[in-house]
Amino acid sequence: MAGSEFFGAEEKKEINDVLETGILFRYNHDAQRNNIWKAKEFEKEVASLVGAKYAHAVSSGSTAVSCALAAAGIGAGDEVIVPPFTYIASVEAVIFAGALPVFAEIDETLCLSAAGIKKAITPKTKAVLLVHMCGQMANMDEIMPVILENNLVLVEDAGQAMAASYKGVSTGLWGTTGCYSFDFFKIATAGEGGVMVTNSEKAYHLADNFADHGHDHKGNNRGMENHPVLGFNYRISELHAAIGLAQTRRVPEIKKLNNSHKNFMMAELGKIKGVSFASIPDKDGDSATFLNILLPDTILAQKTVNAFNQNGVTGFNYWYTNMYHFINQWDHIKQGRVAAKTNVQLLGAPQDYANLELPQTQATIGRLISFSIKATWTEAELKALVTSIGNSIQSVLK
Ligand SMILES: *Cc1c(COP(=O)(O)O)cnc(C)c1O
Repeated sequence: MAGSEFFGAEEKKEINDVLETGILFRYNHDAQRNNIWKAKEFEKEVASLVGAKYAHAVSSGSTAVSCALAAAGIGAGDEVIVPPFTYIASVEAVIFAGALPVFAEIDETLCLSAAGIKKAITPKTKAVLLVHMCGQMANMDEIMPVILENNLVLVEDAGQAMAASYKGVSTGLWGTTGCYSFDFFKIATAGEGGVMVTNSEKAYHLADNFADHGHDHKGNNRGMENHPVLGFNYRISELHAAIGLAQTRRVPEIKKLNNSHKNFMMAELGKIKGVSFASIPDKDGDSATFLNILLPDTILAQKTVNAFNQNGVTGFNYWYTNMYHFINQWDHIKQGRVAAKTNVQLLGAPQDYANLELPQTQATIGRLISFSIKATWTEAELKALVTSIGNSIQSVLK
């Protein structure tokens, strides 16, 4: 984790700046706001952290995915390749864009694999929504050629991987558009919030318009602004942006602490025969929000989860049975249970969602146990935790 471990004077100062003026809206009110523009500052801070030309802050990571898809031109009827292991917001964003998700295999990076993407491509495939999972990054050297050779649009959901990078390029900046989440569980939080990033001026302007009913944000008479495209309200408030700004400044330090803890854990737990880890395509680019342990098989992983529970080891996720992160539990998608008809119902699903064959994904997620890494752990806490994790695993793998 996580910015939520840190909430102090810096966050309060940024919030207070906004409270002093009472201008909670991110646009206009130039005379009253005393030059306080938190959303704009937040965007600048994120852009500079990740090295993006443009950043646009919105109300959540989920709406940031929607903006990223719209700004990349993904819409009605487009087939979009998605992973079956992701926070479900990625898939929801594709469906509510009017597009059709196509599930493909992940590998031990926990992200879509080049081979998985290749196999899922059809003549109707328009885009790949690549999700960088568990603080790490996908293997971009393998994936980019598949994107380019097949003329696909790449959109990245780096909701869990802000400040992660591959060979010096941040997650979120490999594709046409990318995005980050600032919900309460991410490396930095705004309470609720998200940021879309891009190096494309065109995509940036589309996202900026799309996230605010099409407003072009020119001039100082909001009611008379032009609306180049249709949009909706995905705006972030100045209060949320203020928190996001303070938190983004903390990310380099959080990342450093996370990596130091993760290195120690991997070195210690890696000594246990039968323990391996999710593969990290670029170790130097890890945001290290999670330690991702792979047990030899699903049965042994489930036994390990039981041992953790019996021994009072906490702070881990077993995604295989998680309701929101893994396709096995997404029965609403499989059964087409929706509040109102989507294009999946209208046009028909491109795959039989209830009977997908994703053996590599099933095997990988079945073996995976992820521990949230806390930047604020003391050395004693870290050592005690590693000892108890190790003891539980050894009781199963003996
Ligand atoms: C958290 C997350 C989201 C959604 O972000 P919210 O801010 O909670 O809406 C989207 N995609 C991924 C991969 C996430 O982890």
